[in-house]
Amino acid sequence: MKKTDISNIKQLLSSPKKIVIVPHKNPDGDAIGSTLALYHYLLKGNHKATVMVPNDYPTFLKWIPGNDSILIYDYQTKTCESLIESADIIFTLDFNAFHRTGNMEHILSNSSALKIMIDHHQSPDDYATYQYSDVSMSSTCEMVYHFIDMLGDTALIDADTATCIYVGIMTDTGSFRFQSTTNKTHEIIAKLIEKGADNSHIHNSIYDTNSYQGLQLLGCALSNLRVVPESRAAYITLSQDELNRFNYKKGDTEGIVNYGLSLDGVVLAAIFIEDKQEGIIKISLRSKGDFSVNEMSRAHFQGGGHTNAAGGKSDLTLEETVQKFISILPSYNDALNNE
Ligand code: 5GP
Ligand code: MN
Repeated sequence: MKKTDISNIKQLLSSPKKIVIVPHKNPDGDAIGSTLALYHYLLKGNHKATVMVPNDYPTFLKWIPGNDSILIYDYQTKTCESLIESADIIFTLDFNAFHRTGNMEHILSNSSALKIMIDHHQSPDDYATYQYSDVSMSSTCEMVYHFIDMLGDTALIDADTATCIYVGIMTDTGSFRFQSTTNKTHEIIAKLIEKGADNSHIHNSIYDTNSYQGLQLLGCALSNLRVVPESRAAYITLSQDELNRFNYKKGDTEGIVNYGLSLDGVVLAAIFIEDKQEGIIKISLRSKGDFSVNEMSRAHFQGGGHTNAAGGKSDLTLEETVQKFISILPSYNDALNNE
C-alpha cells in the first residue's frame, strides 16, 4: 500500500465512523477470521463496525471471537441494507469483485460509501478508493496484520484479534504448508501466539470437530475418487443424493479436494459437488507447483482464485461436467507433466 494511502486511512479512522465489513459468499476461515480481526481492531478506535456475510457458513467457524455479532445478509436482509446505506466506509475483505458476494452484489456496487479492499486474489476490480491487493500473501488475515502494522497499531492486537488472524492464516495455508507460507508468515504467527492466540485450541476447534456423518461423507467421496494418470490429475464427485444420504451440512466437504492432491504423482485435483438448489455443480480445483488452476477455472468454469487453489461452477449436469473436465485435460498435458 502507498504511504499516502496509509496516512489518508489513518486520518479517516481518526474519528469514529460507521463501518461495514464484508467477505465473499460462502465465507471460509480466512474470510471470517480477517473480517472479525478487523472488527475487533476498529472497535478499539470507537468506530461502529459490523461484519456482514452474504450467506451462512460452517459450524466449525462459529466459535471464533466476535462470531455472535456477525450479521448474515440472507437472513437479516433489511438490517444489513440499512447499515450499508448509512455506512461511511465499507471494507471488502478476501475478495476483489462484487459478484463474489452473491446477492449483495448490487447493493454494494450502488453504495456511495468509501470502499477499502484488502485481498490476495488475482485481477482485482477497480471499485475501491484504497486498494490493498497482494497475490503473494498467504491470506487476507496476514494482510490484516500488515494493515494494522502499517497504521502503527500492533499494540492494539489483543488475544481475540490474534485468534481471528491465526485462524485465517492457518486455514488458507493448509496449516502452514502451502508455498505461500513464508518466514514472515511464521514471524507473524509467533507474534500472534505471544499476544494470546492459543494455537493448539485453534487447530482442534477447526479440524477436530467433525461429525460422524461428515466422516462417512468423506468415505463416500474417497470411494468416488478417480485418477487420470496421463494428466497426473485426480477428481472426486459428490451427487446431491450422496450429500442427502449423509445429511450434508455446510462445511462437510471442506478440504476433501486435497485428498486427490495427496496421491503420489498427482499435481491437479478437482472436486465436483452437485447443488440441486442452486442448479449448479460447485467446483474446487487444487494444484501443485506452477500449474495455474486460477487460469483453468477462468477459462472453463466461470471462476478463479489463486495459482494453486481456485473455485468455479458449471451449469451442466454432474456427469457432463466431469466429461468436460476429462475432455479439456489433454490440452494441459504438457504443463501437467512438466510439474
Ligand atoms: P474453494 O475451492 O475453497 O471454494 O476456493 C478456492 C479459492 O478460490 C478461494 O480463494 C476462493 O476465494 C476462490 N474462489 C472460489 N470460488 C470462486 C469463484 O467462483 N470465483 C473466483 N474468482 N474465485 C473463487
Ligand atoms: Mn483467503
